[in-house]
Amino acid sequence: TGYSKIAIVTGANKGIGLAIVRNLALQYPKSSLNAGPLLIYLTARSSTRGEEAVKTLLADPQLKAAKALTQDGGLSTITFGHLDITDETSIRYFKDLVKKGYPDGIDILVNNAGIYIDASDVNMVKNLFKTNYYGTLAMMKEFLPLIRPTGRLVNVASMDGQLELYSEPLKQAFAEASKTSTEACTVLMEKFIADLETGKGETEGWPVVGYAYCVSKAGEIAATKAAAVESAKSGGEVLINACCPGFVNTDMTRGHGTMTVDEGAKTPVLLALGDIGGVTGGFWKDGVIVEW
Ligand code: NDP
Repeated sequence: TGYSKIAIVTGANKGIGLAIVRNLALQYPKSSLNAGPLLIYLTARSSTRGEEAVKTLLADPQLKAAKALTQDGGLSTITFGHLDITDETSIRYFKDLVKKGYPDGIDILVNNAGIYIDASDVNMVKNLFKTNYYGTLAMMKEFLPLIRPTGRLVNVASMDGQLELYSEPLKQAFAEASKTSTEACTVLMEKFIADLETGKGETEGWPVVGYAYCVSKAGEIAATKAAAVESAKSGGEVLINACCPGFVNTDMTRGHGTMTVDEGAKTPVLLALGDIGGVTGGFWKDGVIVEW
């Protein structure tokens, strides 16, 4: 195929995802993963927005100056991939395309795609979970088997997913599920939604009004840890980690974020390319493991 390494980034048409693609291209040559040409799939649910984003990067001054891209004599090629993480058909289609194109496997998956809501309406919450929890989980399940042993899986979660918000029994339930299986994590997420639907959210110890995003990110962290446990048990060597990018200025934070997207991309890119001492199942922020 001509490529030594293959990377995939979800929700990469803007914000932190776009910056992750740029910084993968910039940092790959000096990373220990460098084994020759790198193909980066910039994926997005909108072909228009995704292809536009690829064009932007092909003309990116930082990438030009660093001669990072193949067109300028560098190692990285950026290509568009259509991928809506809430759509099973879209995931399967993209997976088939990758499997056919690169039968020897891929090296990096960064699950960055996510949405934010501050509402508590059950239907909106279900939709939120469809992306942040179930979408990310489906991507892990479908693509982890394609990642080569030296590879990395990175989930962009959030400090909002920390366990301090929950009752003692729920903290224990999260901790237990994260050590058991992704299935156990899903059962916990289903309980949250069922408790919301039956009006038992508060009595069951969940943070309720406006906190669904936090719960979806806590579930994402739990599922990351569980996937790392499951993978290691079956002899897998892929390093699977979750992180918080920090409070980043993107459309999601509507002008309130204090960090640039390049700063926000730092920890995800470290987990994708850097020396992380073989850690798997960690939750990271600012380049170090933090308390969940
Ligand atoms: P943006 O809203 O700027 O970007 C989100 C990206 O996800 C967009 O490209 C969006 O595509 C994409 N996306 C949404 N739904 C889907 C889907 N179903 N399939 C594929 N792509 C999808 O947000 P950020 O860049 O700020 O956030 C990136 C990640 O970082 C998120 O997971 C977020 O939760 C997390 N995060 C962000 C923080 C911050 O301060 N910004 C803090 C902590 C965590 P489209 O353009 O089509 O909508």
